[in-house]
Amino acid sequence: MRLTATKTVARLTPALLAAMAVSVLASGVAQAAKPSGGGGGTTSGGKTTRDTTPPTVSISTPTSGSTLGSSQDTVAGSASDNVSVASVTVSVDGGTYVAASGTTSWSDVVNSLSNGSHTLTAKATDGAGNSSTASVTVSVSTGTSGGGSGGTATPPTSTITEPPYDAAVVAGTYTLTGASSDSTYSITREEWDVDGVAVASGTSTTGLSYDWDTSKLAQGSHTLTYRTWNSAGAEGDASRPVSVGSATVKRVAVILYNFQNQAPPTTPATVQDWTFTGTRSVAGYYQEQTFGRLLLGGQYSATGDVFGFYTVPYAYPTAPCNFTPWETSALQQATAAGVNLKGYDVVMLTAAVPSGCGSGVGGGSQDRVPWNNPATPDQWISFAAHELGHSFGVHHHAAAWTCTDSSGHTVQVGGSCTSSEYGDPYDIMGGGSVQHMNAYELGQIGVLRPGNVQTVTAAGTYTLNPLTAPSNGVQTIRIPRAYDASGNPTDFYYLEYRQPAAYDVPPANVVDYDGVLVRQAPDFAAATTVSNLVDTTPGSSTLPWVHDNFDAALTPGRYFQDAAAGITVSTVSVSGTGASVRVSFGTPQCVRVAPTMSLSPASQSGAAGATLTYTAILANNDAPACGASSFDVAGSLPAGFTQSPGSYGVAGLYPAGTVTTWTLTVASPSTQPSGSYAFTETATSQSSGMTGSVTGTAVVQ
Ligand SMILES: [Zn+2]
Repeated sequence: MRLTATKTVARLTPALLAAMAVSVLASGVAQAAKPSGGGGGTTSGGKTTRDTTPPTVSISTPTSGSTLGSSQDTVAGSASDNVSVASVTVSVDGGTYVAASGTTSWSDVVNSLSNGSHTLTAKATDGAGNSSTASVTVSVSTGTSGGGSGGTATPPTSTITEPPYDAAVVAGTYTLTGASSDSTYSITREEWDVDGVAVASGTSTTGLSYDWDTSKLAQGSHTLTYRTWNSAGAEGDASRPVSVGSATVKRVAVILYNFQNQAPPTTPATVQDWTFTGTRSVAGYYQEQTFGRLLLGGQYSATGDVFGFYTVPYAYPTAPCNFTPWETSALQQATAAGVNLKGYDVVMLTAAVPSGCGSGVGGGSQDRVPWNNPATPDQWISFAAHELGHSFGVHHHAAAWTCTDSSGHTVQVGGSCTSSEYGDPYDIMGGGSVQHMNAYELGQIGVLRPGNVQTVTAAGTYTLNPLTAPSNGVQTIRIPRAYDASGNPTDFYYLEYRQPAAYDVPPANVVDYDGVLVRQAPDFAAATTVSNLVDTTPGSSTLPWVHDNFDAALTPGRYFQDAAAGITVSTVSVSGTGASVRVSFGTPQCVRVAPTMSLSPASQSGAAGATLTYTAILANNDAPACGASSFDVAGSLPAGFTQSPGSYGVAGLYPAGTVTTWTLTVASPSTQPSGSYAFTETATSQSSGMTGSVTGTAVVQ
């Protein structure tokens, strides 16, 4: 089903972001606050604001792409809201909305649809007037077409295999592939329709492929229908919406307003520069991460429109704040000034408000993006591009999983997992600043081409091109981890590989991007849930919340395993041009990997005879299926030097990059000449005999 429901979600406030900022001390101790989570009508500073959270709505019957054949068809689904759903209405092909029966569980009957493709849209509205919609595209066939002897036989099953998912963006010549099957009759004819017009037909028994030249079509949405007929004359259809074009232009306006006796906090020129035209801008951010496939534009200016400041007839507020009258006044003043508000995909309303007023709200055609005194374009981009991301189709935040086994030990996945909203530090929709969206989210906003997405169900070694640069190759691998009763995948692990880009710089305290990021998420078309980053080194840090995720990437030689789903992923190698990953299925196997020893700092200095202090760090890199192992650690020192402890036993260290640390001191003889002296610490696994070493330096001054 193709959901177009919007969900309003909140952005972190600067205060929360500041609270999240950590200073990592030499001891590795840091503090961070966890935000209380999103939701439009939520609390801010302990005070309740108005309900701005729209309901969610979904259509369960019919499913998108299905074929309806009768004169009366039932449309049904569900809706929910944080307060209550006031009504559900249904529209056919964009026509008048008609009330359905029920709210949280609802249904409606549509009558006598004509043959061809139709869009059914359900709209749920709550008591505060917030609403959202969901649509499905279906085709209607009375079963008499196709030149057969009648329409009473069971129709064949038609499936569209390329493009592989709804709303895929295609360009140039694209090969459509369909499959048909019939357990009783033979397949006698197939046909591809574009927007209801036949473009190709054939008589293959296995399915019809067609090299479709999309350059002759208008850019934007079109409907593909794959039709097949059996020897009894019954027709089976499958339909799929598709987006044609090299770029989608989103028309965005910023409407600035200020309060009585409040000087405008910035200039429209600055907002224009930081949003649309500057070298660092919201438009530049989207151009980079979508490879020019999603561009921002305006109605009156090709680059983008900024209106205001409009002074609203209210005093500068104190929290809690009700934005509605301010925004209504600003919109009325813009309309009075001649602005056609209907000409935009998204109108952003921006004012400087007290910090207690609450955070930004995005989703739908109107975003609220407070001007929180950003000092740099990136501070503005991190908020405005985030809220626009909700309006462009990312309905939730980039979260992260924290999983613990039955003994309370953190594990990659399994046991008990909790999802931390905003917990993904690599993503603007999570805890990141101006980092790119993840592959699941880029799929949601229609950026990925079908060739950029590979669904892997067979063991093998696969290549990932960086997600951070244009490519015609595979940029995300999806591994199904759950299936519905019909065998269709409902949930995936998404693999992606990044290299730094102008906006996608590694977050603070993240060493590099030299590994594969693993996330759990449903299909692109499912708008109802978050993506969850998997920390592949779950025991590597005692830092709270997102900070243990700073080393989430699966670096070469290491393993990710989901025992319940029978999935193992290891990174074979990485380079500036891509990553190689090995995927296998079945009961995860124990694979031993050499441990890693490191010292912090790597070099210390002091007078002859002084005792120098280091932190020793040991990581167990075995695959998770190996379980815990024990290690022996011993040093190799220059003559006369001593260390404490002299040797060290580590018992029961968990695998998957789990670390343990201890204090190591090294003392030089009191007569040691000044100079730089190297020493080596080596850890040996009692399970495998594999070793890992590190060389430290003691400088005698
Ligand atoms: Zn948000």
